[in-house]
Amino acid sequence: MGGDPPTMQSMEFSYADVCAAREIVRRYLPPTPMWSYPVLDRLAGATVLVKHENTQPVGAFKVRGGLTLLASLPDPERGTVTYSTGNHAQSMAYASRIFGAPCTVVMPAAANPAKAAAVEAWGAEVVLTGDDLAAAEEYAGKLAEETGARLVSPGDTAELLAGVGTLYQEILEARPDLDAIVVPIGSGSGAAAATVVARELAPGCRIIGVQSAASPAAHDSWRDGTLVSRPNRTRVDGLATGRAFAGPQRHLRDLADFVLVTDDQIAEAQRVLARDAHTLAEGAGAAPLAAVLADRERFAGRAIAIVCTGGNASSGEIAALAA
Ligand SMILES: *Cc1c(COP(=O)(O)O)cnc(C)c1O
Repeated sequence: MGGDPPTMQSMEFSYADVCAAREIVRRYLPPTPMWSYPVLDRLAGATVLVKHENTQPVGAFKVRGGLTLLASLPDPERGTVTYSTGNHAQSMAYASRIFGAPCTVVMPAAANPAKAAAVEAWGAEVVLTGDDLAAAEEYAGKLAEETGARLVSPGDTAELLAGVGTLYQEILEARPDLDAIVVPIGSGSGAAAATVVARELAPGCRIIGVQSAASPAAHDSWRDGTLVSRPNRTRVDGLATGRAFAGPQRHLRDLADFVLVTDDQIAEAQRVLARDAHTLAEGAGAAPLAAVLADRERFAGRAIAIVCTGGNASSGEIAALAA
């Protein structure tokens, strides 16, 4: 058998693919809100537009990619197998339900239980196994070989990038004058799509990536110009990847910068978003604000967007908001 090569992995991916994805995404999802909060602006010393992907039906931006991928499959009834720490899982489960496709998601055994429960509630099968995403990936590969379902890589699938690009299209069509967009990075698919969209719609807008210093694989790969694996110790599940993904990395060369923040800085940014923007962000969704607050001088007086990529905070994260 030898399984399927991970789905349609040619990462030839252009702005035209984002435009095609938008025709799909808009059938299912309205644009998400983006606005600023005066107290947050004052704290940051900049105009900070918050793009609210936490308001998506699965609580994160990845649903844009899931819908685009499912809509492009010639045989959705064949089913998919994928691996995820949570939000890609919810995205695939949600889109698979809409398209009537079977979906199995392998998640690390210690995955956020709220995310695992949501995946099951959308009708997908959840397999909890292994210590980390790398172990989940390996198991998913075996399952795909055994069952004949299509193996979907969360980082190296062009349709997912194209779908996610619609988020940056919404931001830059509304505000082509932005100085920068700060994007949290795990696999790098979101930031890769952002660079492609910005080049087309707002070449003056800098795309700045941010990752947890406790899981810096994408950052170090970007810095060194080669794909590396790194320890994966962040508490922030949306950013918890131990290796770089080749497809997104190709585009990350176009980032204006890529910064690291600590998990504690991310937790503080979650508290600020709750207090000043009435927003429950999971850690990954607060990482862009952490980067802005860590370097106020750089953004002083500018108009920037921070992408609140997700709101699926664990009960532990919610408890820590009161700390
Ligand atoms: C997946 C995810 C990220 C990281 O996105 P990549 O495209 O993997 O870099 C950031 N925030 C949230 C909430 C996520 O679910």
